[in-house]
Amino acid sequence: MRDLSRKRVLVAGGAGFLGSHLCERLLQDGAEVLCVDNYYTGSRDNIRHLESHPNFEFLRHDICLPLQVEVDEIYNLACPASPVHYQADPIQTMKINVLGAMNLLELAKRLKCKIFQASTSEVYGDPHMHPQKEIYWGHVNPIGIRSCYDEGKRCAETLFFDYYRQHGVQIKVGRIFNTYGPRMHPNDGRVVSNFIVQALANRPLTIFGQGEQTRSFCFVDDLIEVIVRLMNSPSTIIGPMNIGNPSEFSVLELAEMVIEMTGSTSQIAFHPLPLDDPKQRRPDISAAKELLDWEPQVSLRQGLEATIAYFLTTMQRVGYIPTL
Ligand code: NAD
Ligand code: UDP
Repeated sequence: MRDLSRKRVLVAGGAGFLGSHLCERLLQDGAEVLCVDNYYTGSRDNIRHLESHPNFEFLRHDICLPLQVEVDEIYNLACPASPVHYQADPIQTMKINVLGAMNLLELAKRLKCKIFQASTSEVYGDPHMHPQKEIYWGHVNPIGIRSCYDEGKRCAETLFFDYYRQHGVQIKVGRIFNTYGPRMHPNDGRVVSNFIVQALANRPLTIFGQGEQTRSFCFVDDLIEVIVRLMNSPSTIIGPMNIGNPSEFSVLELAEMVIEMTGSTSQIAFHPLPLDDPKQRRPDISAAKELLDWEPQVSLRQGLEATIAYFLTTMQRVGYIPTL
């Protein structure tokens, strides 16, 4: 028999990088967690340490298919986030964003429960407004190689706001900016994990373009804190809300910092810039500061320290250095 005093929370994409940290946090807060994932980019290793927890349950399921479960809250994080992975099967990426969101919104509608959407800074595309505020509608290519993700996430936001207006579903939409930390997969393909793995292996760091493009990197613990705050905020706060760290770095600065912090002998290798790669990205987080009393606590240097330590341990344990 279930303990009625505990909140039951569904985390779709719970076996992924962010999802596994969120499951961990919700369990710490005393919730019952139903982690739903099809291991598309996530892995059992990310949640193995949670499997014996009495309040944790895993369901292998593709959320492109309807799901009938009874929960009190839903977090939708299911979607590959790395360009390498979301571009590998772009039609599937669009499906997960649209059909996946619809299936979870239908569930939230039936259960009359709150639902969080992991949206993204990609809804701003290659932005002309800098830093990006939530009121900015973006500058997005609808037919490019990143469109399956960017437009998929934009369509998901549209669905969230239509379910809110048409059916009164209690939505929470967070636009996540580049987030990194322990439990990113060594072959994830995103810049922070690529650079750390390459530096630890003393291989050249692959900079796309000249490395002048900027990103604002948020450590995972800060991000999980604001996601939970947004979910627990009053029902009038629905977003979309920028969530991320506004400290902005060029990709070249990041590479140099990683080489210095790992003590690596790696050189830098310049590769062609992928199509539609945004030139700059930095969130205006005034709304999160004002409405959720939140701002990031972990600097890039501190976050990199923890992430480098994680990759070092992982790579030594498995005794392999992945091919990138
Ligand atoms: P991730 O790839 O590590 O995690 C995504 C998870 O979703 C994986 O476990 C994957 O197996 C699962 N999944 C994919 N398709 C599924 C399906 N059809 N059914 C069930 N599960 C499925 O990525 P992440 O970095 O943890 O990102 C989590 C969410 O946050 C994503 O929605 C992503 O778009 C969003 N986001 C992340 C970042 C970031 O920097 N990490 C930035 C912006 C947005
Ligand atoms: N990038 C790079 N080398 C890599 C991986 C990425 O220079 O090995 C660049 C990429 O072109 C982009 C930035 O780093 O400009 C961030 O890429 P990532 O894939 O992490 O996330 P994005 O913000 O592009 O979704």
